Amino acid sequence: MATCFWLRSCGARRLGSTFPGCRLHPRAGGLVPAPGPAPGPAQLRGYAGGLPGLSAALLRTDSFVGGRWLPAAATFPVQDPASGAALGMVADCGVSEARAAVRAAYEAFCSWREVSAKERSSLLRKWYNLMIQNKDDLARIITAESGKPLKEAHGEILYSAFFLEWFSEEARRVYGDIIYTPAKDKRALVLKQPVGVAAVITPWNFPSAMITRKVGAALAAGCTVVVKPAEDTPFSALALAELASQAGIPPGVYNVIPCSRKNAKEVGEAICTDPLVSKISFTGSTTTGKILLHHAANSVKRVSMELGGLAPFIVFDSANVDQAVAGALASKFRNTGQTCVCSNRFLVQRGIHDAFVKAFAEAMKKNLHVGNGFEEGTTQGPLINEKAVEKVEKQVNDAVSKGATIVTGGKRHHLGKNFFEPTLLSNVTQDMLCTHEETFGPLAPVIKFDTEEEAIAIANATDVGLAGYFYSQDPAQIWRVAEQLEVGMVGVNEGLISSVECPFGGVKQSGLGREGSKYGIDEYLELKYVCYGGL
Ligand code: NAP
Repeated sequence: MATCFWLRSCGARRLGSTFPGCRLHPRAGGLVPAPGPAPGPAQLRGYAGGLPGLSAALLRTDSFVGGRWLPAAATFPVQDPASGAALGMVADCGVSEARAAVRAAYEAFCSWREVSAKERSSLLRKWYNLMIQNKDDLARIITAESGKPLKEAHGEILYSAFFLEWFSEEARRVYGDIIYTPAKDKRALVLKQPVGVAAVITPWNFPSAMITRKVGAALAAGCTVVVKPAEDTPFSALALAELASQAGIPPGVYNVIPCSRKNAKEVGEAICTDPLVSKISFTGSTTTGKILLHHAANSVKRVSMELGGLAPFIVFDSANVDQAVAGALASKFRNTGQTCVCSNRFLVQRGIHDAFVKAFAEAMKKNLHVGNGFEEGTTQGPLINEKAVEKVEKQVNDAVSKGATIVTGGKRHHLGKNFFEPTLLSNVTQDMLCTHEETFGPLAPVIKFDTEEEAIAIANATDVGLAGYFYSQDPAQIWRVAEQLEVGMVGVNEGLISSVECPFGGVKQSGLGREGSKYGIDEYLELKYVCYGGL
């Protein structure tokens, strides 16, 4: 334990000298590149040129540690999921790079925590401004690496940048408390202090926003981060690093260590068990979240877990069908069904069932256009990889074998191995896989129900609870159902609920903690009680 205390003491700055090629920054006290050529496009390694017209400065392939672009001993390929075209070879970091990144983040933390909230705020704001200036290039990177339609990618970049803007504002609104205790000669103070270094692990489905939602809050609070992006989508994380550097975020405050899926387990373990790391912030599947929770338990670290969902979408008899169909399209088919808050199960009351299914099928045929995300008019891009397609196909086959009816779609799309047709199933029952396994694809299964109690029971019959949606025009029912759904977020007559101002997170096995909103920064702050006596 003594070693850990020493390691975690910001006074132990001599640690920096062990990081090869770096020296301590005179102002920030963190690691900066040793004197040498300035990083620039000439240092780009392995980029295959699959994204014509993009600013080369944003297309980074090395890791970003201590303010430096560093290659790794190996590289891994990144592909466009729509065409299969190679986009580039990216540094495949391993345990030693992960440890070095933690060390750099820790060194930087010792200074970053002392930077005034106003200055942290202004640096985050500069980062935000640069994201907005580069929004078109950033969106194209998202579409290239994730397949997301370009219009949605633009939406993600704004959503992502808004987290930096929001937390640049929140940075200056961290307040403590003074408490009057029964003792007349004492006052109790509550200070809020940054937690420390945060290990940030993110998924591919929002390659930019899932990073800034965490990092904006962390940096605003005075924490530093080591980001491990998903294997499929490292370019967005690295582009953010380039812009962080241009914004003047000090070296070591934002570090990115891309790695292949082969290395994810050991890199994840290295950063999540390192004694210099105080916080684990993860967005991804519940399965991976549980592994990381074990790491956190062994070294007693703070955690934020944004995990999987199985969102119910309930349509009651009193609902407005057109409104419900518009919400169903938005909540089910955004990012081709690959968001954690996508509706997974449609529960429709008997009286409105046939009208809803008919109108939903017509709206799907009219509004959903499968294609390459770069093509004008595409609303449904490819799934992230063939494994994802296999999962949807398996769920459809399972449902049909147990009596479900295909209303529209139902099979792979002719455009390529990663494409699947937007699919609507009716006559779905609760014994089918698609009702209890997160789909993460363009499949909408409809279950018919009779009573409100039955709908609530079906909706809550799962061990996860992220988002839930329902459509009703009955005010009393709206209150009842909103309160009874076992989820962290509810859309009432609304299919799009995410916003930087509102708390995002789940209950049950959908996670721990909240991101965004005025609550998000608390995940990166410790409360310290100071008893001030002798007054
Ligand atoms: P995932 O397999 O859990 O991967 C997420 C991240 O964890 C990736 O960076 C992945 O690296 C990494 N990872 C995988 N195994 C690891 C391990 N043993 N140790 C450390 N890191 C590890 O999830 P996904 O399939 O990419 O993403 C989809 C899931 O994320 C869905 O369940 C979805 O609901 C959830 N999600 C939740 C939210 C939310 O806010 N609640 C938001 C978006 C997505 P590799 O890429 O190299 O495998």
